Amino acid sequence: MIRIESISKSYGKVKAVDSLSFEIKKGEIFGLLGPNGAGKTTTVKILTTLTKPDKGACYIDEIDIIQNPIEIKKIIGVVPQENNLERELTVYENLLIYGMLHKVKNLKSRIDEVLSAMGLQDKKNSVVSTLSGGLQRRTLLARALLPQPKVLFLDEPSIGLDPHIRRELWQIIRKIKSEGRTVLLTTHYIEEAETLCDRVGILSHGKLIALGTPSELKKDVGEYVVEFTDKDGRLVSQICHSREQAYEIAKQRSDGVMIRKSNLEDVFVKLTGERIKEIKEGQ
Ligand code: ATP
Repeated sequence: MIRIESISKSYGKVKAVDSLSFEIKKGEIFGLLGPNGAGKTTTVKILTTLTKPDKGACYIDEIDIIQNPIEIKKIIGVVPQENNLERELTVYENLLIYGMLHKVKNLKSRIDEVLSAMGLQDKKNSVVSTLSGGLQRRTLLARALLPQPKVLFLDEPSIGLDPHIRRELWQIIRKIKSEGRTVLLTTHYIEEAETLCDRVGILSHGKLIALGTPSELKKDVGEYVVEFTDKDGRLVSQICHSREQAYEIAKQRSDGVMIRKSNLEDVFVKLTGERIKEIKEGQ
């Protein structure tokens, strides 16, 4: 559904995106992860036609993004990180204006559909500024879904939401997937990516350093972790490929040693840490 072919984008001397290539399949929830400044937002901006790459090509549903930005806008929905709803208008008025701008057919019944899908029917006439952060996020999602986009982009969808509301949002995103839509999200919550995403891509310094399902990445990088306190009292986590290797390391430590299964966060820390070390050594 999304094909990115060797795109690069620099801001002055900073290579925000550096020869990036990957594909996202139809109906997938794909998570783009990476430390601050890794190039996630720049990649999303390119895919949503907000900025052009310096080189490379990308396609959504076989439409060339650079050549046909207007066609692309018709098939994508975007939920930005910052809340750009009209705060003094009601939920319904926000949807109405957006739907009119996007020439949504049968707008009134479509608004009812998305309000019902997002569980917002009873908030239809509420002024946005009076809603909680979670309900405002749901309104942003409802708005993005109005024109029935094939691909939905979510930039840090659960930032600032409490754990209950975050889980509720995950259910909604799964529902969007079950309608056959493709979802690309960026997140700093690695647990969110592990729970929700079919596949993830990890970016570091504009490059893709890992791509796969959360289980594939754990298998590749290490399925076990030994945790212990070093002589300076710091907690150290060492990721290992096998239980045997983990036991060997644990045997050499005495205090507070623990062996556990790895999670995506362990993989993320290991890979992005190594990449930073490689870059520093190359300087
Ligand atoms: P974060 O997780 O902090 O949001 P990110 O992975 O989304 O980071 P980007 O925002 O894509 O990263 O930024 C990648 C690099 O490009 C950073 O070094 C950033 O400072 C730089 N950058 C991004 N946008 C601009 C811009 N408009 N002008 C100058 N530099 C920029």
